Amino acid sequence: MTVNSQAVAKIRSVSVPLLDLKAQYATIRTEVQAAIDRVVESQYFILGPEVEALEREVAAYSQCQYGIGVSSGTDALLVSLIAIGIKPGDEVITTPYTFFATAGAIARLGAKPVFVDIDPCTYNLNPAGLEAVITERSRAIIPVHLYGQMADMDQIMEVAQRYNLYVIEDAAQAIGADYKGRRAGSVGHLGCFSFFPSKNLGGFGDGGMVVANDPELADRVKLLRNHGYRPKYYNKVVGGNFRLDAIQAAILRVKLTYLDQWTMARQRNAATYRRLFTKAGLVIDAKNDVSLDQEQGVIMPLETGLGRHIYNQFVICGKRRDALKDHLKQQNVGTEIYYPVPLHLQECFADLGYRRGDFPVSERAAWQTLALPIYPELTEAMQAAVVDAIADFYRHGAIAG
Ligand SMILES: *Cc1c(COP(=O)(O)O)cnc(C)c1O
Repeated sequence: MTVNSQAVAKIRSVSVPLLDLKAQYATIRTEVQAAIDRVVESQYFILGPEVEALEREVAAYSQCQYGIGVSSGTDALLVSLIAIGIKPGDEVITTPYTFFATAGAIARLGAKPVFVDIDPCTYNLNPAGLEAVITERSRAIIPVHLYGQMADMDQIMEVAQRYNLYVIEDAAQAIGADYKGRRAGSVGHLGCFSFFPSKNLGGFGDGGMVVANDPELADRVKLLRNHGYRPKYYNKVVGGNFRLDAIQAAILRVKLTYLDQWTMARQRNAATYRRLFTKAGLVIDAKNDVSLDQEQGVIMPLETGLGRHIYNQFVICGKRRDALKDHLKQQNVGTEIYYPVPLHLQECFADLGYRRGDFPVSERAAWQTLALPIYPELTEAMQAAVVDAIADFYRHGAIAG
């Protein structure tokens, strides 16, 4: 073996998971254990002081007056939609290129998800498509801040105001992101966060939060979170059990103090990828289209320059994506497809009447995008191994897929 091929073999043996929560836990174990102990000793497990403290802290972090801890990001969306009065027959406009829960929450209330295609550069809802789908039944818009970068909120809010629609931000992937200085969750009427373990602020189980600046809406969410009763056992409205556990809140309070540091590490990793991909000659200019003429290379995620991207995901776009994913798996590089089937083509939404071709940008994104490891503890050597494996795929004739 030559020195060089030895070096290559060494790099190749590096295993790079998509996410490594154990690495993060190792850095905060003592503090987290103390927080859990505190709750266990108090035997106060549902809502209570830890949840209230987290609500204040996340609200402040998100430039909001109010925070209401809930059971998941999905329930944050659901309870928000109930709070604004969404009922059967109403229409709620959103993107088809998102996690299922965004549209699932709408459908669960008997309302109709109405999709608008995404922007090819940011993968976020394209505001230019909004007006064409507004009807007398339209009640709300749910923009999703996909991968950690906020949607074009000025344009979305402008249309919403003109047609008197509510805006609920799905900020599940975007806690701490901002747009023109305004934090995710603070721009629309309500903002929804998820504390699913893989989110930037992840708990040790399910959890979520709704944030708001409007006191009446916040109060309504709070009422609905706990069966709609006030006082206890006197039910004003029909709510549900959308409560957050104290143990999750105590853990999340520890993690919140590290969030900015972790976000900066993600941003550093994103910059490192850009540098390594550029150096390897693998960067394809996105222009205004995700369709690729060249075979060899990938499109980098676009930063709009309008605010802070928190990189919940670092998503590239390239030809022969599925074969690339398989190749990376063989090289022990973890990747994921977010998301392989746009929501308008999901079986459960067949009755909405959408067809293949209705949202071409979302459909292309679903075929061509791939999320790479970007978690804060990733090392530059690991990132080099990822880029090297991708170079190997596009250059050295990995089998055509
Ligand atoms: C994770 C996620 C949700 C759902 O959050 P859960 O806590 O898993 O219920 C909703 N929307 C988006 C965009 C997400 O990424």
